[in-house]
Amino acid sequence: MIGVTVLGATGSIGVSTLDVLARHPDRFQAVALTANRDAERLADQCRQHRPKFAVMADADAAARLRDLLADMSGRPEILSGIEGLEQVAALPETDYVMAAIVGAAGLRPTLAAARAGKRVLLANKESLVVAGAMLMQAVSDSGAELLPIDSEHNAIFQCLPPNFADGLPRVGVKRILLTASGGPLREWPVDQLSSVTPEQACAHPTWAMGRKISVDSATMMNKGLEVIEACWLFGTDTDHIQVVVHPQSVIHSLVQYEDGSVLAQLGNPDMRTPIAHAMGWPERIDSGVAPLDLFAVAHLDFQEPDLMRFPCLGLAFESARRGGTAPAVLNAANEVAVAAFLDRRVDLPGIAAVVADTLEALPNESVADKGLEFLLDVDRRARESAEHAVRARAA
Ligand code: NAD
Ligand code: MG
Repeated sequence: MIGVTVLGATGSIGVSTLDVLARHPDRFQAVALTANRDAERLADQCRQHRPKFAVMADADAAARLRDLLADMSGRPEILSGIEGLEQVAALPETDYVMAAIVGAAGLRPTLAAARAGKRVLLANKESLVVAGAMLMQAVSDSGAELLPIDSEHNAIFQCLPPNFADGLPRVGVKRILLTASGGPLREWPVDQLSSVTPEQACAHPTWAMGRKISVDSATMMNKGLEVIEACWLFGTDTDHIQVVVHPQSVIHSLVQYEDGSVLAQLGNPDMRTPIAHAMGWPERIDSGVAPLDLFAVAHLDFQEPDLMRFPCLGLAFESARRGGTAPAVLNAANEVAVAAFLDRRVDLPGIAAVVADTLEALPNESVADKGLEFLLDVDRRARESAEHAVRARAA
């Protein structure tokens, strides 16, 4: 039996992971489930999947979970806080860790899983954006496996040869074509973007996801974070990645080779496919996703991204090129700006403005030989600066 810890079990990716896991009771056993504050949902998941541990990041929510599970026989041990999250990411009985916490909050537990040599199923792209060098180093030092869950990166992984870590040029790759749906605002009049509501921004045309990543898809910051994610996962740079807008979200990304071949991975837009791929790899296992019907799809369209409409994508490319602390600052400022947008404190164009102001306000520092504390401090300072920029815009 393969023991699985699901970090962020109550979220969109967490729920899809438990759906795949439950389809293979002879293969997988939930060892630990975690959530931030939603004790009611985690309690239901504990009754269904019977893990040994349950963690609430929030201490009050952990107390609530204890009450909710008081009458459960064989109830899990309940932990709380960041220490609890790190502990269950590194348990001896855990083989696979699904890293599906949203935002930089996922960094420490994801790093703990990598350091403990687990198979890390990485949905939490923000941890690579904030600490790519450190996370990749931890994976290689411990012999952990890092398998991408982000649908595009999972698609690229499937289109690359097994020895791609030798270097993309050495295996004949010319470039990566990273597809993007373009989100709900792809055709929205540019001069009316300031009137977009949180509900409209979260109404994604092809994917059902958590609110933060839905807003990131509306601004295309999500694709920007994914460019940085791809650079780390596949050992490449922004000159070898092209973003291709593909509204149907059927092709999940492509790899272009020296000989002119282009390999793509296709499927219905359902995260259970990349999750089942990474959980089963190198075998193929059932995901519950319906087979792709090409006649129903009928058309596949492609466009260049519009950087005037989506300034966040340009900011992310620029941060990736600058390197150092720029991607961590970009990420922290974006998290603050997205939260402010969801609270109706800034308008949608304000997100890019807050990120640009924050990148300008903070010096870009080298991350070479720096530890986790340094990166967490950069994250803290960028959040403070971004909050300042939000208040300045709201005033
Ligand atoms: P979500 O908001 O639906 O779920 C987030 C989960 O993280 C929840 O379980 C929540 O309780 C937990 N969480 C939130 N803040 C926390 C904190 N401070 N400490 C501990 N736990 C915390 O998000 P999601 O859509 O499932 O996305 C999760 C991650 O996967 C994100 O990094 C996202 O970019 C990535 N991702 C998601 C999708 C998707 O289809 N939803 C696709 C690709 C990548
Ligand atoms: Mg993606």
